Amino acid sequence: MSVLDELYRETLMRHYKHPHHYGELEGATLEVQGDNPSCGDRVRLMLRLEGDRVAEVRFVGQGCAISTASASMMTDVLQGKTVSEALRLARQFKAVVVDGTPPAAELGELGALAGVHKLPARVKCATLVWNALEEALSAR
Ligand code: ZN
Repeated sequence: MSVLDELYRETLMRHYKHPHHYGELEGATLEVQGDNPSCGDRVRLMLRLEGDRVAEVRFVGQGCAISTASASMMTDVLQGKTVSEALRLARQFKAVVVDGTPPAAELGELGALAGVHKLPARVKCATLVWNALEEALSAR
């Protein structure tokens, strides 16, 4: 395993063991549930929008390391973003894990999930919470 792979693995496990922004969100304006039956991942994403901006985002659920870390890292990058910025991040992240596009700097620690595109069975784990995000934002 390369040093970079190890670093990525450490980042992933850190978010899995201690997910950021985990728990119920009081006053959520959007809420959506996502399921990935192929792995057993379940996530409920809650957002509080102020105008066009993501003021707060939290999630709860049960999932594997990849789905949990993806949700945790996503909540880190979404805080304060506009809806269109959030949707752009979703497209960028999916291009990384689905097509193997190199991660842009603005994805932050989410770049640690870049290797997922080599594991087709796990792509849905990584994209679960992002699909939930797109569903929530398009339903508003
Ligand atoms: Zn999974």
